[in-house]
Amino acid sequence: MTRIRTADGAPAAVIAGQRVELLDRARVYACGITPYDVTHLGHAAAFVWVDTLGRALRFLGVEPEVCRNVTDVDDVLDAAARRAGAAYGSFAAIQQFQFDRDMAALNVRAPEHEPRAHQYVGQVILLASGLLDLGAAYARDGSVYFRGSDAAGRAGLDRAEALRLSGEYAGRPDDPAKDDPLDVAVWQVSEPGHPAWESPWGLGRPGWHAECVAMAMSLFGPAVDIHAGGADLRFPHHAYHAAMAEAFTGVRPYARAWLHVGTVTIAGAKMAKSAGNLVLLEELLAGHPAAAVRLMILDRPWAQSWDYRPALLDTAAARLEGLYSAAGRTAASDPAGVAELRRVLAAELDVPAALDLAIEIGGAPARTLAGILGLT
Ligand SMILES: [Zn+2]
Repeated sequence: MTRIRTADGAPAAVIAGQRVELLDRARVYACGITPYDVTHLGHAAAFVWVDTLGRALRFLGVEPEVCRNVTDVDDVLDAAARRAGAAYGSFAAIQQFQFDRDMAALNVRAPEHEPRAHQYVGQVILLASGLLDLGAAYARDGSVYFRGSDAAGRAGLDRAEALRLSGEYAGRPDDPAKDDPLDVAVWQVSEPGHPAWESPWGLGRPGWHAECVAMAMSLFGPAVDIHAGGADLRFPHHAYHAAMAEAFTGVRPYARAWLHVGTVTIAGAKMAKSAGNLVLLEELLAGHPAAAVRLMILDRPWAQSWDYRPALLDTAAARLEGLYSAAGRTAASDPAGVAELRRVLAAELDVPAALDLAIEIGGAPARTLAGILGLT
């Protein structure tokens, strides 16, 4: 592969304060969807940021290898398919099709890898066996539990908060079979009627965190450069993913940097079907250009949570117009402008600063940025 070296030396990106030195490629693992419902703005925001991270890495001279999994074995998916009276496999396939259509409409590139959890059941069984051998897990009543008592501290949470979040995210802290309520199932015994596979512990199915560990490890080996996902996945999902992977491989840290994309709220409340406040991507795209929706998501620090209001789309449309007209100008300082753009994006993927710069300078930097942000 021919690479262009900049005068600054090897590429490096700073993500969440962590400097990540890179050479030719970057392994980016993004927690994907559980295909049980329509895509809303909150999902879309995380995937637009992952897409933009990939484009920015390529601009820095690094080939991104993005893995975005599909969690197609999951209790919430199972429950949704039952409510719809459908087999979970075909139900997931239809939801997946709609998700792919929404992502294409938003100009989100297809990831290099898109593993599906149901294809990695064998690897989860191997992971569970390995964790048992290492004493990091125990088998009980057909399930295998990972010892997770230190996961709370790892995520900077006190035990009470960790238990609350564990309950909220289907961690079953009240499962009486566990030694500690913060232990999590690597392998979960399946009740009759639920998806189930043969295992050394009987009929069961993989635990959510273990699925991602198996997929990430199968595709990338023991560690990744950047692990991305919505901020609400920080705990329990990402904390247990990292803890299981590190316990299994002994390689630390599992992820060199974490891109936790800020949550989108409506009037201060988290978007949820149960709250009836979902902003569906399909509806946004029916009334607004995809580029304006993308720019509304991207023109802010990626880690910051934000409140959606329709007026933000007008602000984004005006900003987009500014960028497009700047792109049409010829600027004298194009190479210097592009180098400055590189510096700004390498530091925390600072899109607002990059936009200010591109709109001010115009010409090549503005055209380059429009491509990196997926606005062309
Ligand atoms: Zn995940």
